[in-house]
Amino acid sequence: MTVTSTTDEGTRSGGWRHWLSTVLPRPCLGCAAEVGAAVDTLGLCLACRGKLRNASADACTACGRSATAAFAAGETPQLCPSCRAAPPPFEAVFAVWRYTPPFDRVIHGLKFQRLEYLAEDLASGLVRRWGEELGSCDLVVPVPLHWSRRLKRGFNQAERIAAPVARALDLPVVAALHRPHRTRPQARLGKRQRAQGANPFRCRLGHQVAGQRVLLIDDVVTTGATLGAAARILRHAGARSVVAAAAGRTSP
Ligand SMILES: [Zn+2]
Ligand SMILES: [Zn+2]
Repeated sequence: MTVTSTTDEGTRSGGWRHWLSTVLPRPCLGCAAEVGAAVDTLGLCLACRGKLRNASADACTACGRSATAAFAAGETPQLCPSCRAAPPPFEAVFAVWRYTPPFDRVIHGLKFQRLEYLAEDLASGLVRRWGEELGSCDLVVPVPLHWSRRLKRGFNQAERIAAPVARALDLPVVAALHRPHRTRPQARLGKRQRAQGANPFRCRLGHQVAGQRVLLIDDVVTTGATLGAAARILRHAGARSVVAAAAGRTSP
């Protein structure tokens, strides 16, 4: 199988940035206190790291809503009654942290302050928490940005997280999706607009996706609409199944 990776260059530049981040003291992303680089993970001081909240373990793995009573013990993924009745195009969304302070500052740091080393920390968190569930996938597909947004930001944060996850799980990264039109984020569209609107994604490496169990990666999941749209395109291209993973999840 030919592997298409668009992340080599990024990983290299991420490498020296990561090195710099380990030798320079800098302010905590959560509270601005100066942190010693050696004890620093996710750009947060110890106190701020203590404030991080897990994406709920007793929530529906697809929609994120809490429905403890409906779950059989030890069931993974756990689906709430409405997701079981109308299954989403992905099997589950595995997320690590709740998108509440100070975690939102970490994502902000990655996307807008270009602190690319944070992607490595986010990826480690994903692998630590969900490595077993994600390891059964065949390949990793990052959620793409429209080229103009990628150009403006200089990189795609989903790719930056996907690369180290793929490395840790020993899976190839396949940039199978692209986003030909610049559209508003799916989360900001109403349910009706989403249903009416065309899918913003296209699949260009369908032959690599066909028959595979795809691990779809994004930085943060909000409504699940973006991951749903991407998963639908992958399934349409012949993917056997799609499992989604994100570092953060907003409260439903
Ligand atoms: Zn702090
Ligand atoms: Zn659900």
